[in-house]
Amino acid sequence: MGLLALGTALDWPDAKKQAQLVRSWGIKQLLEIWNKAKGKERDIMLWGDEVEYLVVTYSKDDPKILLSLRQADILEALASDKALSKARCCSDGSGSPSSQPPPVFHPEFGRFMLEATPGKPWGIGFRELLEVEPNMKLRRCIAKDHMLPNEYPITLTTFPRLGSPGVFTDPYYPASGSKLRSQFVPDEIANPHIRFPTLAANIRSRRGRKVQVNVPVFRDEKTPWPWRDPTVNYDLHQWPEDDDVRNGAAPDNFIHMDAMAFGMGSCCLQITFQAKNLTEGRQMYDQLSPLGPIMLALTAATPIYKGFLADTDVRWNQISRAVDDRTPEEMGEKPLVNDRWRIPKSRYASNSTYISEDPRLRPEYFDADLVIDEDIKQQLLDGGMDDRLATHFAHLFIRDPIVIFSEDLQELDLTKTDHFENIQSTNWQHMRFKPPPADNSIGWRVEFRPMEIQITDFENAAFTVFLVLVTRVILSYNLNFYIPIRRVDENMETAHARDAVLQKRFFFRRNLFPAVRAPRSAAGSGTSTPIPSRPPTPAGPVEDEYRLMTVNEIINGTAYARGTPTQADRDAAGESEGDFPGLMPLVESYLDSVNVDVATRCRLAAYLELIRKRASGELCTAARWIREFVEKHPEYGRDSVVGEKITKDLVERVIKVGEAEARGEGGMEGLGLGGLLGR
Ligand code: ADP
Ligand code: MG
Ligand code: MG
Ligand code: MG
Ligand code: MG
Ligand code: MG
Repeated sequence: MGLLALGTALDWPDAKKQAQLVRSWGIKQLLEIWNKAKGKERDIMLWGDEVEYLVVTYSKDDPKILLSLRQADILEALASDKALSKARCCSDGSGSPSSQPPPVFHPEFGRFMLEATPGKPWGIGFRELLEVEPNMKLRRCIAKDHMLPNEYPITLTTFPRLGSPGVFTDPYYPASGSKLRSQFVPDEIANPHIRFPTLAANIRSRRGRKVQVNVPVFRDEKTPWPWRDPTVNYDLHQWPEDDDVRNGAAPDNFIHMDAMAFGMGSCCLQITFQAKNLTEGRQMYDQLSPLGPIMLALTAATPIYKGFLADTDVRWNQISRAVDDRTPEEMGEKPLVNDRWRIPKSRYASNSTYISEDPRLRPEYFDADLVIDEDIKQQLLDGGMDDRLATHFAHLFIRDPIVIFSEDLQELDLTKTDHFENIQSTNWQHMRFKPPPADNSIGWRVEFRPMEIQITDFENAAFTVFLVLVTRVILSYNLNFYIPIRRVDENMETAHARDAVLQKRFFFRRNLFPAVRAPRSAAGSGTSTPIPSRPPTPAGPVEDEYRLMTVNEIINGTAYARGTPTQADRDAAGESEGDFPGLMPLVESYLDSVNVDVATRCRLAAYLELIRKRASGELCTAARWIREFVEKHPEYGRDSVVGEKITKDLVERVIKVGEAEARGEGGMEGLGLGGLLGR
């Protein structure tokens, strides 16, 4: 997302009056794109990653680590650096020059955040997969070069003491501004561009109260129980919303947070894929959907909120709640009088429907209670869109646009997509189906959004590479991952549990190959086997098609998993049933079938090894590593409190690991995650 033009953003009551107009213009713009781009063919296989950073201030002698609020200055320094060139920073280690222009930096919601993407999307070559890690290191290095000496870009998902009592930003601002009305964070925590404070304020206004981001606290030996969040102030009387906590917004045993920044201030790793055409895009969207919760659990990195250990390991639900604009009527707390529907999920949630016309997609996989706007669906059908995709967009369009600029309402411009994007880009689902832009210059894209950012670029590259390879495998073997979409929702919840990657089991399809096909031989040609047009083979009950599996079984396959300790325990308990090949062996056999040179294959193997060991428990998640760091810290009182000294030492360690990694040393080893960087 680029910097948006300035304009007059409408406050909620005024924005609400224009919602129907924005939706109807958005649908007209969507139909315009649809009719122009539905027949687009042979777009090339391109993909790109997005890495998000927190910017912290750190110096050895200062007891405090703070969030730096200089996002705008840093972006300005990056944008105005004419000499920005990759040669100055970290070498990529491959000896060969990169085809990449300098990376691109983007603003984010948090004024303490940055996002960086490669200078141009990656192509289909396997060697390009090896450029990802050096490019990520380069981005980090360039970002650092445009910061003050005491500022550092780090890739923790969340800042451990965001919203804790005392000072946690540089410069300091007191809490409770008119936009967020948070008792914990100041309005200045958000990117000051009018879009962001308006987004937060209008979500709050639409809800009729502040967002409630409650995370279960981790109960340690000395954690008082029941636990009452000691940082909540029940005696504030500045804003009407100060009543929220007196009305039960902060239940016992939960860390209570009350602002968008607690969710949208977290960092993630996203990957966008361009499909060769619409059909392939829809296939990729559907087939990657069930992998979302698995990759969320594998990348778990978020065990601390507001200075307390949480009982969950990932960020997802916190972001979901931090932007949940549903009214009490929509949430089912009051009878429907003014609103149109009960809506079961936040606008940030796992996706709720499948979109492919794949004959293997059985009616039973859909959510029978999916809420859609029937009028909008009819308009899309009348405009020539098929039922399934019309249903998808008619679901996204149940939401109101939150930020509306009055300048944009003067006339409908069908050469733009702004009104469509207004609704589309504030439906934050774990997959996003991205139509081509109005000028049609690029193709149909699918974005994979659930992964948590990892501490090191080695890990971020590993997860990126793995997902790219899985996508190739899906297309080459025409794999079938379908399970009922509601099971994907359940898996998403399961992924939140502490150590879900080892302790939990996820619904997953038993047989990925309804019709076995040989992979295409052209190396990463990006062409997929066409979806068979025959009707699905006579099928038994849907429930027989999937079963609960550990992440180890899903990634490594049952044969490998049986040889690993956690799985052996489960087998002894009689929990295993049925063989499953595992995604990793499928990736390996795909790599065997295509032309990858030995050197490339060896380096890819290091990334795959990280994923394999993460799934088996031989390597721990960042969440586990952070928990252990806290638990071993001399200042930790076994009471769930993550104090300033622990935070400083943790972030210092993370900075040191980043520096070691940039020097080409064993950052992962330094993290205690295993000696993989010594490869
Ligand atoms: P958003 O924030 O809306 O998800 P970004 O502009 O930050 O989107 O970019 C997402 C990623 O998509 C970037 O890594 C970018 O390199 C990549 N990308 C850009 N164009 C294409 C394309 N045609 N196909 C695939 N990926 C692309
Ligand atoms: Mg982006
Ligand atoms: Mg974005
Ligand atoms: Mg964002
Ligand atoms: Mg982003
Ligand atoms: Mg994105």
